[in-house]
Amino acid sequence: MRQKARIAAVTTALAVAVTACGGRSPAGPTTTGTTTATATPTPTPAATSGSLPAMYTHFYGATVSMEGSNVVLRATSVPDHPSPYFGAGHAMYEAPHAGMQINPNRITSQSLVFRVPSSPTVAPSGSDTPMGPMGVAVNGVALFNQYAAGRSPLDAEILSFDRYNGHPQQQGQYHYHLEPLFLTAQGSSRLVGVLLDGFPVYGTRDMDGRTPSGLDVCNGHVAATADFPAGIYHYHVTSAAPYIAGCFRGNAGTLG
Ligand SMILES: [Zn+2]
Ligand SMILES: [Zn+2]
Repeated sequence: MRQKARIAAVTTALAVAVTACGGRSPAGPTTTGTTTATATPTPTPAATSGSLPAMYTHFYGATVSMEGSNVVLRATSVPDHPSPYFGAGHAMYEAPHAGMQINPNRITSQSLVFRVPSSPTVAPSGSDTPMGPMGVAVNGVALFNQYAAGRSPLDAEILSFDRYNGHPQQQGQYHYHLEPLFLTAQGSSRLVGVLLDGFPVYGTRDMDGRTPSGLDVCNGHVAATADFPAGIYHYHVTSAAPYIAGCFRGNAGTLG
């Protein structure tokens, strides 16, 4: 009985794997053009040129440095929490949760280099996020957008997420498309990560404990945060798509 269920799960997982988010796959449409966002352009933030904004002290899972006007974050994308995707026998392995359809990939250490503007600015319109990493969480795990390969909805992939909403793609690059539950369990308004455009991502709540209001099409708004009491444009994790960010509100940096 148990074995049968397992075989069924593996079969489904293989089907899921075929459509799994492929990172830099050249296939499929890559852009839908610019996305109109309606947030009022607001000057942000108060970072002095050459100095590391204070929010980066929260990035315990990445090596952070300054390079000209960019912040450089180097990360392996290996999570600091258990996952079935470490593989049986690994110290961080845990059994899949009920209903999880584990994919055949296993977590592999990556060499991701994110170069993001240290003083991000709001652009006149939003721009599409890429397939593959669009940002990095404070624990060094890559943040992906709301799409599976071909910019299709994540529906099937969601079944393969571990209990912290992560899974690895074909090259073993572990990532979150949805709320990073391991992080938000430590505070619903905490800093979750940063996107390539340099704007921060916070949990499901604002620092006053309220559900954020007035989120634009990119899933962000301008309000005060613990790291930016004077206010800054920032994204929020939401339970519905786009989950983390629907587009970049600023000018994206680079991933190397
Ligand atoms: Zn994925
Ligand atoms: Zn907010």
